[in-house]
Amino acid sequence: MPVPTFLAWCATLLLPVVVAHLPLAHAQPAPPHTDAAEFRACLQGLREAPAFRAVTPATFATHTDGLVPDASVLLLLDRQPEFTLAPWDYLAVLVDAERVADGRAGYARWQDTLAQIERQTGVAAPIVVGVWGVESNFGQNLGGRPLVQSLATLSCFGRRQGYFRGELAAALRILQEGHVAPQQFNGSWAGAFGQTQFMPSTFLRSAVDFDGDGRRDIVGSVPDALASTARFLQTAGWRRGEPWGFEVRLPAGFDGGGGRKHKRPLADWRRLGLTLPSGAPLPDTLATAGLLQPARGGPAFLVGRNFDALYSYNASENYALAIAHLADLVAHADAPLAFATPWPTDDPGLSRAKNRELQTLLLARGHDIGAADGLIGDKTRAAIRQEQQRLGLKTDGRAGQKLLDALRRP
Ligand code: CA
Repeated sequence: MPVPTFLAWCATLLLPVVVAHLPLAHAQPAPPHTDAAEFRACLQGLREAPAFRAVTPATFATHTDGLVPDASVLLLLDRQPEFTLAPWDYLAVLVDAERVADGRAGYARWQDTLAQIERQTGVAAPIVVGVWGVESNFGQNLGGRPLVQSLATLSCFGRRQGYFRGELAAALRILQEGHVAPQQFNGSWAGAFGQTQFMPSTFLRSAVDFDGDGRRDIVGSVPDALASTARFLQTAGWRRGEPWGFEVRLPAGFDGGGGRKHKRPLADWRRLGLTLPSGAPLPDTLATAGLLQPARGGPAFLVGRNFDALYSYNASENYALAIAHLADLVAHADAPLAFATPWPTDDPGLSRAKNRELQTLLLARGHDIGAADGLIGDKTRAAIRQEQQRLGLKTDGRAGQKLLDALRRP
């Protein structure tokens, strides 16, 4: 979801695990202040505010009369990340065998549409499929919070009210122009919505009516959603015909490289001793490239400008790498799920299938964690901590292979 950096940590719907938190019993904050009369007065003021100039009084009234604030979005706004996923945990969930299979099916089903989009925008079809899979699991996970209610609450209470007022005004314009049906206008707590998980202001800048029905409908129309993603990446500087990058092998003792933004010609990297994982010389498919190494001792990649375009979608290198890797796997039926250089860990991350197995084992042990949905939320994490404590493992709330192995033992 294209958002400013400050929201990046909370962005991707599919990953409530990107940031994890203390068990609820340890850190349940007081319910935030959301006074109804204050909310009404705030909305009354917004109606006249310059940011809402393009919203008619009728639109404003239709979608805000009788609205009540939703205090739960303020709790989410103020959560502080306590636990950041390692790249191998992040990629294990976002790029697993299920998502690759679903991506190949989606690629096959929409290949004509995707080919047209690629011709028009230059953005490679597998990349568009990769974004679709990471943002909304190919349209299956759109977020269920009423967008106007969330954004109106965030516009009147809490920090960042100015930012959210702009998004609320954009959301009301989207409804006014009839692009998305009001009853379908739901999304993440922060206001990202649709199969592309655009913020409303991003929608106004980048969304496309590709199926030609006069509406830019990134919720209900797959062609509109795919074309809107491609338009966003095109605007972010996507270069037709260039790959995002590729995995490389570093020479022994190689240190540094300066990071993704420090770009050099491929000839420089060859001189420094970098090769493809097979040992073959680096190809000249990138104009310039920077070195991305998410974890010291783990896989390394040379990445070009197109990787930067992916980064602009969510301001996270791991996120951009997940899209890039998923796109490669969608495009190449024989590509292996694992990178050539393994991640530097003896306790690998879990796929969604393994997360579901872990949750089923936790349920069998009497933990009240709800459904085994493959998403590691607060309840699952609290149960994991209890089991880790019982088993004498490091009590960090992380869902990993060692814990799964321990729970599998009878
Ligand atoms: Ca349309």
